[in-house]
Amino acid sequence: MTRFLSFGQDARRIAEADSVAVIGLGRFGTSLAVELMGSGTEVLGIDADEDVVQSLNGVLTQVVRADSTRLEVLQQLAIGEFDRVVLAIGSDITASILTASLLLQLDVPVIWAKAVDERHGAVLEQLGVHKVIYPEKDMGRRVAHLVRGAAADYLEIDEGYAIVKSFAPQLLHGITLAEGAVRHTHGVTIAAYRGAKRSWENAEADTVLHEGDLVLVVGPTTDVERFAQLR
Ligand code: ATP
Repeated sequence: MTRFLSFGQDARRIAEADSVAVIGLGRFGTSLAVELMGSGTEVLGIDADEDVVQSLNGVLTQVVRADSTRLEVLQQLAIGEFDRVVLAIGSDITASILTASLLLQLDVPVIWAKAVDERHGAVLEQLGVHKVIYPEKDMGRRVAHLVRGAAADYLEIDEGYAIVKSFAPQLLHGITLAEGAVRHTHGVTIAAYRGAKRSWENAEADTVLHEGDLVLVVGPTTDVERFAQLR
């Protein structure tokens, strides 16, 4: 236990900053932790595997080798003082559930947990985990839409409602969005566009699109997909 004491002091300092603890540094946990660091958030990473910890040393604010299923370990690492914890252990469902219950016991205000399937997710939700995520399932759905359609990017906001990035179709070239009446004729809203200036701008009624412009289209999934297929 003593070897966690100095880590505990560092972890406490990190917890005081606007920071996140990520438990389980597999592909998902690592990618999330690195992205958070890139956007200026301090990250305490925890993993049971020494090689994983070594490989992320110096990449995250602090990386600790520890077993997250032990309450005293989480206490030493001051996990209860973090506002947000992401539990990114997936395949080891027992470790995921045990850790989740300890995080709840420590009163972590916001817990995000990864689930590998619906049954795992249901248990995490029953325990009281605040946000359960299904990275494989969500990514699978997203890629399916990208493979099927002509969209450059696709994000389902909720069941049946999506946002799509695609090229402005020819029927809108050289006219204002008001003249194009996209909402009326296609059931979607063009929220933003990227034209010759190559920066994104809010789309207005008098916005005129040209060949090669990208648009961000919001609306019911079937409508935005149909719109993205227009040439
Ligand atoms: P991914 O798909 O993101 O690579 P995964 O779904 O395969 O991950 P796991 O293999 O269960 O998920 O776990 C991811 C990481 O969590 C691994 O690096 C593993 O060492 C770590 N891990 C598993 N159990 C524990 C534990 N009890 N304490 C800390 N870390 C753990």
